[in-house]
This record gives sequence, structure tokens and C-alpha cells, in this order.
Amino acid sequence: MSNVTKSLSAIPLLDLKAQYETIRGEITTAVEAVCESQRFIGGPEVTACEEEIAACCGCKFGVGMSSGTDALLCGMMALGIGPGDEVILPSFTFFATGGCVSRLGARPVFVDIDPETYNTTAALIEPAITEKTKLIIPVHLFGQCADMGPILELAESRSIPVLEDAAQTIGATHHGRPAGSMGRLGTLSFFPSKNLGCFGDGGMIVTNDEALTERCRILRNHGGQPKYYHKLIGGNFRLDAIQAAVVRVKLKHLPSWSKKRAENAGRYDNLFANSVVKTPRIAGGNVSIFNQYVVAVPNRDELRKHLTAERIGTEVYYPVPLHLQDCFADLGGKAGDLPHCERAAREVLALPIYPELTEADQQQIANTILSFYAGT
Ligand SMILES: *Cc1c(COP(=O)(O)O)cnc(C)c1O
Repeated sequence: MSNVTKSLSAIPLLDLKAQYETIRGEITTAVEAVCESQRFIGGPEVTACEEEIAACCGCKFGVGMSSGTDALLCGMMALGIGPGDEVILPSFTFFATGGCVSRLGARPVFVDIDPETYNTTAALIEPAITEKTKLIIPVHLFGQCADMGPILELAESRSIPVLEDAAQTIGATHHGRPAGSMGRLGTLSFFPSKNLGCFGDGGMIVTNDEALTERCRILRNHGGQPKYYHKLIGGNFRLDAIQAAVVRVKLKHLPSWSKKRAENAGRYDNLFANSVVKTPRIAGGNVSIFNQYVVAVPNRDELRKHLTAERIGTEVYYPVPLHLQDCFADLGGKAGDLPHCERAAREVLALPIYPELTEADQQQIANTILSFYAGT
């Protein structure tokens, strides 16, 4: 017999096709029902989705949104954020968190992060508070919540509302409290790569505040209430019924998917123990949903090139912190201002963590990474 080398398979960062195979029938039935009804905007599918997502987040109300970005924008509009206001948020986050602040004419004030969890803290937020501060946005990054107790206490003591950017954390808990339920409102994203992804763009606002819910519902329909009578200027921020139907199907599977992600995370933790690869630390009291599994490594860009050549998918969330983005240059941010954000931007690398990932895949990924460092 000839000497056959077992060829290793390509491993993508995320395998949505594999997930789809397991729910194809359910999805087809749900989408066909919407087609039969021909109710594509609003209607019972969106309402049911809002109720189920709100319940999943431990909130009374859900307001379907066209994306996680629009949930942030609409939520801030409902809170009356505008010119002259300052909004505090971590610099190490997805662009939308800061972009929406600027779009409303307010000033984003970027703060640093805890280098262990990549989330911001009350101690980092406090010195940034001024009399103009109208909102604090903790971002629950990579699947685990920020340390909310001290943040809520600080915000409460200064009468500043808190918006949780929970785009990456649906189903995560913090001392038993669901992500999105702790602040005045939480925003979710159903972007396909999020743990609860739809088949396009979608998002939601969750809250226990009834008046705020009403404002968000009006704002997402151009601010008209009743229709064609406008006291507010809103936008088209609506969630489609087809997307709501997809979300409802997937929501039933979310707990088992999150469990598999956590198991995969535990396996990586073991594989990388006592190596140069710094594995994510989940803070006490947190249950992470591991929307990403993000390691910190030396020589990150070289490693990433090597992994790409070995057909292993990775991503850098995020290569440039917001205070160093060109579009925010007028705010005066410069290198060295927020050292932990800047260091994270240099070192982080997200590895495949999706539920369908196999033990053999993880072994292959770990071997490839560890032998890269053994060879340098
Ligand atoms: C994905 C994401 C958003 C935006 O959500 P979209 O649905 O893509 O608009 C906002 N904030 C964070 C932290 C995100 O990860």
C-alpha cells in the first residue's frame, strides 16, 4: 500500500450551511406560512417574535428592528440623544455603537477596557462623566456581559440611563440576569453571524419601560402616530415578518447551540493550557454564549496568514479601536490614549467556535497554532 497522507479539511470561521441543514424543514414551513399570509410588514409573526425574544431576555417588551444598528439608533432617538450630548462607550467595539452616537449629532466619548474580559468597567467610565453625559453604553463583547453591578450603581447615582449593546450576547446571563434586561434598554442584532442570526438584517430593542417601548414603536414607523400624523421624526426601522419567522425557529435551538459553543470553548481552553495562546477569561457570575472565541497571541498577523494558508478561518474583531478611526479624528483621539483597547486590537484573533465544529477540527486548529509557535 502506498503512503497516503491524510489531507486535512478546510475549517471555516462559521459554518451556517451546516446549521441550516439541521433546521431546513422547520424554516421552510415557517417562511411558507408568511408567504401564504402575504403579511410581510408587522403582523402576528413580528408580534410573536417580539414576545418570545423579550421573554428570552427577561424583559416585558420587545420592539423588532431592521438591524442591531437601527436598534441602537432608534433606542438613542427614543432617549432624546442629540447635539450637545455626550455618550460614553468603550472604544473596542463594533463601529455601530459609536457611529450611531455621531449620526444623532452627539459626541461619542470613548473609554478603555479591562484587558482580561475586553469589556469596559465602572472605574473606566467614571472619570469620563461630565455634566453633558446623557447615556452610558456598556457593550457585552464576544458573548459575555460587562460587570454591570458597579456600572448600574454609578449610572444611577448620576441619573444617567444605561443602554446595553447586547448584539453579541443574546441568552448570556450576569449573576443570573439576562443580557439586555439590566439597563434602561438593551439592543440585539440578528445579523447572520450572531448566535441568533436571521436570513438578512434584523434586530430588536428589549426593555421593561413601557413609555420607551411606545416611543420606539412610533419611531420605527417614521414617527407617525396615527399613521401619517407625525409628532416625531423617525425612520423605517422595522423588522420583516420573514426574518421574524426565521428568528422564531432558531430561538428554539439557541440554548442547545450556546451549550455546544461553551463545550467547544472548554475544549480549546484545555488544548491551549500553558501555551503562549491567551484564552478568554469569563468573569465570575457570567454565563457566556461565546458568540466568538477570541484568543490573544503574539505575532497575530503572521499567525493569521499561516492559518489562512492552512485553510482555517479566523477574524480580527476589531483591528482599529474607534478612537483611532479616521472618521473620528476630529474628536482628537490619539495612539496611547486607551492602551488596553489598542493592545487588544493588535493581539486578538477569533477562532472557529460554531456548534457544529468537531473535536477533530479543534485538535487540528490547536495543532496548527501550537506548531506555528513551536517553529518560531
Ligand atoms: C453586530 C453588532 C452591532 C450591529 O448589528 P447589525 O445587526 O449588524 O446592525 C452592534 N454592536 C455590536 C457590538 C455588534 O456586534
